[in-house]
Amino acid sequence: MTERAYLDYNATAPLYPSVRAAVVRAWDSIGNPSSVHKDGTQARKIVEKAREKLAFLFGVPTKAVLFTSGGTEANNTVLSSFHDTTTFISAIEHDSVTRAATQALVLPVNHQGVVDLSKAEAILAAASAGRKFVSVMLANNETGVIQPLKELALLCQGFNAILHTDATQGFGRIPLGDIAHQVDIVTLCAHKVGGGLGVGAIVTLKSEGIQPLLHGGMQENRRRAGTENVPALAGLAAFLDEYSTVLKNSAHLQEYRDYLEASLPEAIIYGANVQRLPNTSCLGMPNVSAQTQVSFFDLEGISVSAGAACASGKVTASRVLEAMGVAPDAAGQAVRVSTGWNTTRDDVDRFIAAWRTLYARTTQRRAA
Ligand code: PLP
Repeated sequence: MTERAYLDYNATAPLYPSVRAAVVRAWDSIGNPSSVHKDGTQARKIVEKAREKLAFLFGVPTKAVLFTSGGTEANNTVLSSFHDTTTFISAIEHDSVTRAATQALVLPVNHQGVVDLSKAEAILAAASAGRKFVSVMLANNETGVIQPLKELALLCQGFNAILHTDATQGFGRIPLGDIAHQVDIVTLCAHKVGGGLGVGAIVTLKSEGIQPLLHGGMQENRRRAGTENVPALAGLAAFLDEYSTVLKNSAHLQEYRDYLEASLPEAIIYGANVQRLPNTSCLGMPNVSAQTQVSFFDLEGISVSAGAACASGKVTASRVLEAMGVAPDAAGQAVRVSTGWNTTRDDVDRFIAAWRTLYARTTQRRAA
């Protein structure tokens, strides 16, 4: 067995073949989209095609789509646009939100990792009068738990609060419905589902409220300076052509997920009883640190992530799991398995076998 089993799609994903072909083709486009000559206008066409397709997917006009370099920049741009507004974020947001909103008031989640709506209401009600800005992700990157955006949108309406959702992990995995009309601002990127690195987007009908993070040229309606990443946008356009197939694939990913979880009855499955992304399992192995697990699986040829943050090679307890009330020890013993378009049943079986081996070894050692 030589090929590795890649089960870390929530980190990033292999490119769809059609995306790869489009990206490679676009590297031959030599113009700058802001140039007025023929080469420039050809590059501009690539950028605007991607914008039209994304706008169509969200049912919004093209001016509601602003491109960025990725999810992090999209989130930072949005959060910094509202830096002078009382800000509320959920306890399980990605670092690109939490670190861009260090003064934010935190909305807790329940034991299953879902934002607690009644606590959120109380926290919003207790805050001082004035403009409010709320940021709650569509689905969590560690557990896959899907957040109640419809209910949050209603809550925010009651407080006249602006609602932002980081849809990075839900994009291409679950139907988005009319999300761009339900919430005020959506941010996303496509590289978790094979749409390619180097591009992200802010989708909002209120784009006049977005302030640039980068200053320079007048690109993106003066809201994001810098020459557009033409090859990455060509890839995004190709990805959007595949979007309905991509979503259909989610059904068999859910089968893989359910099979994997049913095969490991000793594992603790976080967020098991609520709506989750079809491709994500956050699995605790009692008494084995996430770091040991990730290294073991790696040696077995399997790529997974620690559910916990991994900075400078050091894995700490997952703050997402701690926010769910998981004890610190257990929160440091979870790994995330995330699948995608190129995952096979064999990949899942390899993970199951490796998990069982490590678990049995640990159980025997502790019994000795
Ligand atoms: N938001 C979420 C929920 C994520 O999982 C990630 C990446 O892991 C990001 C934002 C950041 O996206 P990017 O890697 O495109 O900067």
